[in-house]
Order: sequence, then structure tokens, then C-alpha cells
Amino acid sequence: MRVLNANAAGALGEIPVDAAAPQLWLEEPRDEERARRALEEFRAQGAGPPRRCPACGEDNPPAFDLCWKCGAALPG
Ligand SMILES: [Zn+2]
Repeated sequence: MRVLNANAAGALGEIPVDAAAPQLWLEEPRDEERARRALEEFRAQGAGPPRRCPACGEDNPPAFDLCWKCGAALPG
């Protein structure tokens, strides 16, 4: 089992969002249950309320420091 793109979140804005989303490739179908749990844990690390851009009003993931849409600094 491998989690790909686990560290790609920092590249958002340079590459399409779809390509930067975490991917989980199963080598064994019976790993599915374990894999789902691992994905949920990974998602939970970045959990939190979205950060709204003061410049354009776009919601950004909580880990972002800059707005993905316009590049403005996010408060907080
Ligand atoms: Zn913005």
C-alpha cells in the first residue's frame, strides 16, 4: 500500500488540484479497509474550517497561507 502525493499539497496552484489530491493505490484488494482508514487519518491531519480569503472571498484549505485563487495572504 502506498500513499502517493502525500506531500503535494504545497504544490497546489502550480498543478491542477485533481493531480495533487492524495491517491491511494492498493496492491491487495483485502487492504481496502486498512487503506480507507489510512486515508481518513490523512484527511484528518488537514481538517479544520476553511480559511476565507479577505481579498476575493474564496474558501481555502486550513493549511494554506496564501489564497490559491488570487495569492493574497490569509488571516490567522
Ligand atoms: Zn483570494
